[in-house]
Amino acid sequence: MRDMSTTSELETKRRVLQPWSLTPRQRFMWRVIQGMAVVIALVTAGGALRWPDIVLPVFWNLVLPLVPLSLLISPALWRGVCPLATLNMLTNQPSGRRRLVGHWAAWTSSVGILLLALLVPARRFLLNQNGLSFAGLVLITALAALAALVLGAMFDAKAGFCNALCPVLPVERLYGQAPLLNLGNPRCSTCQLCTPRGCLDLSAEKAIPQTLGPSRRSHAWLLTPFGAFAAVFPGFVVAYGTSRNGPLDAAGQVYLHFAAWSAASSVLVVAATLLLRLPARLVCALSAAVAAGCYYWFASPTILSTVGVASGNAILRGAFLSLVAFWCWRAIRVNNVPARSIS
Ligand code: SF4
Repeated sequence: MRDMSTTSELETKRRVLQPWSLTPRQRFMWRVIQGMAVVIALVTAGGALRWPDIVLPVFWNLVLPLVPLSLLISPALWRGVCPLATLNMLTNQPSGRRRLVGHWAAWTSSVGILLLALLVPARRFLLNQNGLSFAGLVLITALAALAALVLGAMFDAKAGFCNALCPVLPVERLYGQAPLLNLGNPRCSTCQLCTPRGCLDLSAEKAIPQTLGPSRRSHAWLLTPFGAFAAVFPGFVVAYGTSRNGPLDAAGQVYLHFAAWSAASSVLVVAATLLLRLPARLVCALSAAVAAGCYYWFASPTILSTVGVASGNAILRGAFLSLVAFWCWRAIRVNNVPARSIS
């Protein structure tokens, strides 16, 4: 049970830590969109069962590539509509039941990174292939939905799933560190401080510094789970772009390919950081920009071929890379804030 001083401290923080203000009409519109996203997810699952040759390429090659872009624009977009986030908060108790304590936050975010490292390569030998793809997708989505519901009932707000175990969370933090738009917080009408530090919904710009903690003031941040992720991620993205879909027994080869690119990325980032004495905020911005740029470099031809357009690859790549370059320039400016302003 929380004692009185802790409770009043929390109340004060709840009032102070509410930089968003959505009108009741805006909140209503978000609720409608969130409900529609759940329905669309269910319809997509049903459609994939009936027309896998149409629905799966549209999902993997057109819908999924929108996610990194939406995170660069504002993490509130994806976090506001994600059907799993809706399920995660659906089972919340009105007053919440348990916050995510500090040591659990570090542990669970490491699990999220590990899940991402297991699931993304699995697209190459399992999820991208018709037949196995649908069964694999349904199984993983059903498990994730169950986890979101159960953890939503056990923890306050997003503390149990979205801000903890979700494998997309590290990517949301990296790409969402300097949003181009401020869309407020469409999920939490009042902050319960369910997550002690690093909540993207509370402050996207402070999420990485708070996740890294005091280690960001030295090179020790590279040894934290998120620091290691930021170093590895550009290579991880290139590994996906340079690998091909294959049979199930190619799994070992696929993971080896990802491990090699990730290790090379990590070595480069760590060497550049140490030799050039780069600060964490700059490295995180550059890591996000390189990863996003590589992602869209590889995704552009796939997007065009899915919509049946034979030309225009250079234009699409140019548009994506220009946006990423602008985002990077802005992220470096936004991240260049005095350390003392980040608690
Ligand atoms: S998810 Fe973020 S904004 Fe919402 S209650 Fe938890 S800490 Fe506060």
